[in-house]
Amino acid sequence: MTSTVPTAVQHTDAQPPITMFGPDFPYAYDDFLAHPAGIGQIPATEHGTEVAVIGGGLSGVIAAYELMKMGLKPVVYEADRIGGRLRTVGFEGCDPSLTAEMGAMRFPPSSTALQHYIDLVGLETRPFPNPLSPATPSTVVDLKGESHYARTIDDLPQVYREVMDAWNACLEEGADFSGMNRAMRERDVPRIREIWAKLVEKLDDQTFYGFLCGSDAFKSFRHREIFGQVGFGTGGWDTDFPNSILEILRVVYTEADDHHRGIVGGSQQLPLRLWDREPEKTVHWPAGTSLASLHEGGQPRTAVTRLDRTAGNRITVTDATGDIRTYRAAVFTGQSWLLLSKIACDDQLFPIDHWTAMERTHYMESSKLFVPVDRPFWLDKDEVTGRDTMSMTLTDRMTRGTYLLDDGPDRPAVICLSYTWCDDSLKWLPLSPSERMEVMLKSLGEIYPGVDIRRHIIGNPVTVSWENEPWFMGAFKANLPGHYRYQRRLFTHFMQDRLPADRRGLFLAGDDISWTAGWAEGAVQTALNAVWGVMNHFGGATDATNPGPGDVFDDIAPVELPED
Ligand SMILES: Cc1cc2nc3c(=O)[nH]c(=O)nc-3n(C[C@H](O)[C@H](O)[C@H](O)COP(=O)(O)OP(=O)(O)OC[C@H]3O[C@@H](n4cnc5c(N)ncnc54)[C@H](O)[C@@H]3O)c2cc1C
Repeated sequence: MTSTVPTAVQHTDAQPPITMFGPDFPYAYDDFLAHPAGIGQIPATEHGTEVAVIGGGLSGVIAAYELMKMGLKPVVYEADRIGGRLRTVGFEGCDPSLTAEMGAMRFPPSSTALQHYIDLVGLETRPFPNPLSPATPSTVVDLKGESHYARTIDDLPQVYREVMDAWNACLEEGADFSGMNRAMRERDVPRIREIWAKLVEKLDDQTFYGFLCGSDAFKSFRHREIFGQVGFGTGGWDTDFPNSILEILRVVYTEADDHHRGIVGGSQQLPLRLWDREPEKTVHWPAGTSLASLHEGGQPRTAVTRLDRTAGNRITVTDATGDIRTYRAAVFTGQSWLLLSKIACDDQLFPIDHWTAMERTHYMESSKLFVPVDRPFWLDKDEVTGRDTMSMTLTDRMTRGTYLLDDGPDRPAVICLSYTWCDDSLKWLPLSPSERMEVMLKSLGEIYPGVDIRRHIIGNPVTVSWENEPWFMGAFKANLPGHYRYQRRLFTHFMQDRLPADRRGLFLAGDDISWTAGWAEGAVQTALNAVWGVMNHFGGATDATNPGPGDVFDDIAPVELPED
């Protein structure tokens, strides 16, 4: 549609978008990636030098891809499959286009560094059917045995709007929401740092629940209870109530939980396409080089079982085949608890404070179960009420969140019968996939007594509990009160000139050390930090017109809280 508003007015009125720019480390990773000067160079004498990259999830593949472009030779180790927590699976015996996202499934537009890579490999996104979102035909909120059918929040009883208002008031009073929103949109670094420094100091010891209880807006227990069940953005957040409120503020400020889009065909395609991609501009490597072509059989090496620091500050990596190789630099991208348990590690790898930080890292558990169905029967209208037969469903029953995913009216479709976190996830742990499905169908049967979901199921369910996966120890990091200092140590680990000389050369990256864990953007940002760290380690530098995260670190460093 042609606008009647003059362009200049449109421009002045338009607010810059919210991106994951801060609040902890307000660095423009998106601009860094888009800059024509590239993201850094290493001396020609280092070209072809091997660097170990442990983990072939998103952060590992991006780190390896960028190191390859600089002329280094990444050697990727992956214990499970390329993609890690971007895991897209099919259903046995069903049309291969039917897939389920076992890890990440919806991405906020504020993930602009992630979007750089999505665009690079030519993937498309489309709106994800979250509760009450415009892309969702209808939503049912079912609490304490009472169901409400809604297309927008205005269709829900008044108390739900009161809860929404309470949340907005609580964020405004307790966390200067609109001030931070404006500062982040305008990329006003001093203002972001000023607001956040005060909040970090004030709120590091506070839980999400404590933050709600401390607000006059949330005096009512009933309101807090409903908020916990229905929450904000994607639904109930009560499983996050014990977590640090700082973790929650990062999500709301950066709109991580808003305007979600899914990746058409599945998110795992992103790391898989990067693995095969032959970059147009590389240093040292001939045209046609890709991560796949640099690895024997086009596949990463196997699981790492042992990591040692050996003479000359080298990192020695032993893998599950018994192969031992030594590197001048290595990037570790798996969950950090794996360094405490699955991988035999030499104490000398990290300073003691970093080990403590890894031990204290806290994870969310998470389970999902998907079933393939013959068609999107939920869009059939109920003859009496005129409503959709079934809706995206939020409930306090065992299923918690049910998502309806279709690809057009005449095609098979997929239901995520249940998506849960923390205690709600642990409740599923002892059950087999079919036992889980039975309990879920029973819960949904109570909400939709006239709907025979089972009659539409055309294949076996697929399920995951991330806390039970051998190479993962939970879904993602979500820190507890008092953890800010630990988080800071891990995020800033790429600034290795601040570490003792005999503790350098091994770089942490990935979701665990990100400020916005549980969001793939953080995996991308920390991968880019590690790439900068490795580049610097080999005596390289960025172009003066495109300073990297380490070049500007001192100006925008995360707030430091006293240790004593
Ligand atoms: C249930 C769930 C829902 C999520 N939802 C969203 C979402 O909606 N939106 C969003 O943006 N993000 C979401 N995320 C977060 C997102 O998936 C992660 O941030 C991102 O995928 C993490 O990438 P990574 O490379 O840091 O870690 P990983 O993907 O965990 O990669 C690490 C890799 O290391 C490998 N590894 C482990 N140990 C070893 C070893 N010893 N040797 C070799 N390899 C090893 C693992 O197999 C793994 O492949 C979700 C995550 C989960 C689990």
